[in-house]
Amino acid sequence: TAGLYVVATPIGNLDDLTVRARQVLQAADVVAAENPTHTRALLAQYGIKATLTPLHQHNEEQQSAPLLARVAAGEIVALVSDAGTPLMSDPGYRLVRAAKEAGLSVIPVPGACAAIAALSVAGLASDRFAFEGFLPAKSKARRERLASLASESRTLIFYESTHRIVESLEDMAAAFGPSRRACVARELTKLFETVSTAPLEALVALTRADANAQRGEFVVLVEGAADDDGSAAQLREGLRVQALLKAHLP
Ligand code: SAM
Repeated sequence: TAGLYVVATPIGNLDDLTVRARQVLQAADVVAAENPTHTRALLAQYGIKATLTPLHQHNEEQQSAPLLARVAAGEIVALVSDAGTPLMSDPGYRLVRAAKEAGLSVIPVPGACAAIAALSVAGLASDRFAFEGFLPAKSKARRERLASLASESRTLIFYESTHRIVESLEDMAAAFGPSRRACVARELTKLFETVSTAPLEALVALTRADANAQRGEFVVLVEGAADDDGSAAQLREGLRVQALLKAHLP
């Protein structure tokens, strides 16, 4: 049925396109893609022929109205990005927002997302986490952002690209302390997938020493800061138990 379908595509392994994603992309009247050439090649691998139109950072505002007019006219419009889930450090937010404002149905077709895949294997607390996306490219702004996160108690999730992985890990070790645990998840679902969880200083050393460890796509996760309230609460509980024992022991 008509609607704007937000469709996740693989982050590496082609087998990670869901059955439902395939059906929706096959049925779509138009597929709005960050990079139509890339998406055409991807869809060809599944034998899907689709009509594609570009939707990226620079034309999202202008493209939204005509795409949503098609949804309003009863068509199926699918939104995809180059990899993973649209809107996750990828275009689509303005289109989705405009669709909701116009009262049109927006339907998620969930699938791969690098942040969630990494979180699921990092071995860091996953009950509360904060997705930070890409850090600023300039080192001053990057350090300021990291400093502002130093006392955050939730697990932090960052996206990082090849050029800056060593610098970013060094800046994280400086901002969060060298012994804070972290995880570098590299090339998830691909041939050279590696997931290393260790103190930040060890991750810096590992990555610096190995040119291969600096190539590819990365998710970096950092354990949250020790929760002061938590330790204070623990201390109070200890004192309470001590007092109880004292009262009941001879
Ligand atoms: N929308 C995508 C998602 O759902 O994960 C993310 C798009 S963002 C432009 C690209 C960044 O995601 C990369 O620089 C990297 O940080 C992360 N990423 C994407 N694929 C990855 C993979 N296979 N392994 C590790 N990180 C990946």
